[in-house]
Amino acid sequence: MIICSVCKGNSFADHPVLWDKLVTEWQLAPHERSYIDKQQGTCCRACGANLRSIALANAVLAAVGTTLTLTEFVATPDARKLAILEINEAGSLSPVLRQLPGHILAVYPNVDMHDLPYAADSFDLVVHSDTLEHVSDPIRALAECRRVLRPHGSLCLTIPTIIGRLTRSRAGLPKSHHGAVETSADDFVVHTEFGADMWTFLLQAGFSAVLVNTVDFPSALALSARKEAGFA
Ligand SMILES: [Zn+2]
Repeated sequence: MIICSVCKGNSFADHPVLWDKLVTEWQLAPHERSYIDKQQGTCCRACGANLRSIALANAVLAAVGTTLTLTEFVATPDARKLAILEINEAGSLSPVLRQLPGHILAVYPNVDMHDLPYAADSFDLVVHSDTLEHVSDPIRALAECRRVLRPHGSLCLTIPTIIGRLTRSRAGLPKSHHGAVETSADDFVVHTEFGADMWTFLLQAGFSAVLVNTVDFPSALALSARKEAGFA
């Protein structure tokens, strides 16, 4: 049984979100369509978090070392000391995270992940959700996340992942968009379709260890990586 790590809810509703054109562009097999639909569209009836947001909440809670739910955690004195950078709205976690006094929301195009306007060693936690597939240079974007983290700080993120294949760039392929069916905005263009090697992007960006958190594998995966203290 799935328990919502945002609110402890245990009742879920299914709202499939994929549309045929995207499924064709992404070349999803029926079982892949099914688990991506669950990742995005199976939602906690109590708080609305989908499985992707719940996986991300699990990653955040593991990174800060608590057994509380996210809603309980943000009310603690420890949480109120954290400096948190949320890059684009992290699904239904956004209203929870923004309750924290040390929270900053950075939204494209005002803030570009390739060139974050923050000093090195600024944040305890950097969070983004289903954003990395939309940036042209994901390794540089992840390296920027690492740069702005304090030593021992953690990056937690989700990306739509098809675990039965390897990552491919969509460079040279027809444009494919996420977001609402009718949208064609450039910030929804997919640059990278991530596969089972998605964790290697974090190592290429300079992190030395990666943790994969899952909810109802393979529906929802969230990655986390801690910035090492450094021995230099
Ligand atoms: Zn919930």
